[in-house]
Amino acid sequence: MTTTSAAAAARATVYGHPRQGPDRELKKAVEGYWKGRVDADALRATAAELRRATWQSLAEAGVGEVPTGDFSYYDHVLDTTVMVGAIPARHRDAVAADALDGYFAMARGTQDVAPLEMTKWFDTNYHYLVPELGPDTVFTADSAKQVAELTEALALGLTARPVLVGPVTYLLLAKPAPGVAADFDPITLLDRLLPVYAEVLADLRAAGAEWVQLDEPALVQDRTPAELNAAGRAYRDLGALTDRPRLLVASYFDRLGEALPVLAKAPVDGLALDFTGPAAANLDALAAAGGLPGKRLVAGVVDGRNIWVNDLAHSLSVLGTLLGLADRVDVSASCSLLHVPLDTAPERDIDPQILRWLAFARQKTAEVVTLAKGLARGTDTIAAELAANRADLASREQSPLTHDPAVRARAAAVTETDARRGQPYAERVTAQRARLGLPLLPTTTVGSFPQTPQLRTARADLRAGRTGTAEYEERIRAEIQEVISFQEKTGLDVLVHGEAERNDMVQYFAEQLTGYLATQHGWVQSYGTRYVRPPILAGDISRPEPMTVRWTTYAQSLSDRPVKGMLTGPVTMLAWSFVRDDQPLGDTARQVALALRDEVNDLEAAGTSVIQVDEPALRETLPLRAADRPAYLAWATEAFRLTTSGVRPDTQVHTHMCYAEFGDIVAAIDDLDADVISLEAARSHMQVARELAAHGYPREAGPGVYDIHSPRVPSVEEAAGLLRAGLGAIPAERLWVNPDCGLKTRAWPETRASLENLVAAARRVRAEL
Ligand code: GLN
Ligand code: ZN
Repeated sequence: MTTTSAAAAARATVYGHPRQGPDRELKKAVEGYWKGRVDADALRATAAELRRATWQSLAEAGVGEVPTGDFSYYDHVLDTTVMVGAIPARHRDAVAADALDGYFAMARGTQDVAPLEMTKWFDTNYHYLVPELGPDTVFTADSAKQVAELTEALALGLTARPVLVGPVTYLLLAKPAPGVAADFDPITLLDRLLPVYAEVLADLRAAGAEWVQLDEPALVQDRTPAELNAAGRAYRDLGALTDRPRLLVASYFDRLGEALPVLAKAPVDGLALDFTGPAAANLDALAAAGGLPGKRLVAGVVDGRNIWVNDLAHSLSVLGTLLGLADRVDVSASCSLLHVPLDTAPERDIDPQILRWLAFARQKTAEVVTLAKGLARGTDTIAAELAANRADLASREQSPLTHDPAVRARAAAVTETDARRGQPYAERVTAQRARLGLPLLPTTTVGSFPQTPQLRTARADLRAGRTGTAEYEERIRAEIQEVISFQEKTGLDVLVHGEAERNDMVQYFAEQLTGYLATQHGWVQSYGTRYVRPPILAGDISRPEPMTVRWTTYAQSLSDRPVKGMLTGPVTMLAWSFVRDDQPLGDTARQVALALRDEVNDLEAAGTSVIQVDEPALRETLPLRAADRPAYLAWATEAFRLTTSGVRPDTQVHTHMCYAEFGDIVAAIDDLDADVISLEAARSHMQVARELAAHGYPREAGPGVYDIHSPRVPSVEEAAGLLRAGLGAIPAERLWVNPDCGLKTRAWPETRASLENLVAAARRVRAEL
């Protein structure tokens, strides 16, 4: 590669970094503060030390421009709400009394005041707090946090670039405040918000910022002409400011599409674009648009959401193409490194050879630095890194873990009929009714029963070697006995074993499937101080032995009523894991589906008459761009049917979904061809039942009549009212009675009372039929 002037200046940067610290120090400090064990000054000191360590390690790794302002005690969207002064009315007193306590009150609520709603940050597993806005919202600038963190970084002698959530994305992520008309569109507040951003930008300029980054990931979603117009106006106005730093507008998670020309034309100084996954389309689009003459381009060529080593040679070729398209090209990860764990180095249980295939935040930072160096000084200066990278990629490609001939042959032999039940629903339903003999409006639960502190302690004791397997399993059997006897006594019709043995609905299966890896320290922020360790779908997937059969059959041995087998579906197994990037997602889903199909068939062979395959993540994995959705839904629904189609007509297949508006996926839900589906519905007063009816959904459904997200016990009449609403949409022969979701987060007292009321409600409404 020849060195051009655009290349010579190339620098490495990132947009954000894991916040928690190597030992999750931030989690400990924040939770300690909540419990009164850590005072505010100690919390602030811990946070400042974590920021310093992060910047210093980035700088030592060779990052030329470190991000500031990406740090957060809880959530960066909530920080933005504070920055623009959009504190909800119900929290204003608390914030005025004490900014830090008020901040946490907005995040978590208090005894008397509800927190902000939390939802997923685009299609990641990070959750942000949803801004609440209305026609009366008054924005006021509070740049204190941004200025303070920039000042800290500059004091270390570093070049730093503050990173803010951009004004357009902030408004597009907001919702109407309580009491504001549901059709209020927050984007109409843009003209009021821009002066506040102008003030913050001026403050940052005054504090020494040369560049400021404004993140606009909302522009990678399908946007209306009016929204694109708003984006154009926002950056025309901010660009026209005289007292401002240079502006870098960043997008990530997908391609910019029609927003690309809008931003390219705007009078800003640079764009940061994602060139990984579906966003790779940005490359051709940028060339077609004539590039970014006179602007800085930050190229996100290292996938910031996945944990695989980068293909450095491929990235260099992308960067080489980009050199001709902008004034200056810098190298970055595709998005903030917040979405990956910190470091592979402490992982002791992963084979060292395989560990070399993985790149967490520190490794990704090193990749970005290597690429920037190769770009600036020529590829011969990174020859050693390129050779090692080639060897790691080859080792991954040739490994028996990623290429199991038996798994591949089986997946290749799958036919359309394998993913179809042998009989149409009309025949299945007759056979199932004869076999199960259930009443009208049958009652059931979604699977889990309370995961008590005692159960969690038992599992921790097993992991730490304080108890043996036999003792632990005895404990689980005792729990199953209790759960079964409670359900019989309460009069539920289809029982569950309660999932006491499961730490997590994905991890439990991942631990038993060949091809999955688990990390010891691979924590990723889910929300606030909650961190998860997603398993890694690293290789070809197979099931060495049955995973759930003995628990289900044990539970069934205790009762004459049907006990449901309970599995996590293939799409959810992918959605809550790090997935392979060396084959299409649909291929991975098919492998997982075949492994789960064996489990389904084994459950049936062991006498299980009802088998539930949960797919709570079907909706959340939907691609950001509508154009990509049909292809996704095709492989996702096929994987579910492949999992569940190996059974007899009289075996009843259930599925379950939550966390969603279902309106736009009803056709896909129908395509699953499950005999029964349970759905979250209590808070929306059975909205989903009406959506299913409008679609002409032909099979049985249980829209939830008990909101399990709160300890509140629904009264008999309340549950009966919801059931009657359900009957307005779904005929009695096809309506089930169940809670919204599993009960694992609930305590026993409210669970008992709520399920007793649920059964009583079913009886009351049956009597009215
Ligand atoms: N069967 C699981 C449970 O009951 C389903 C959980 C979920 O949908 N998130 O816990
Ligand atoms: Zn659920």
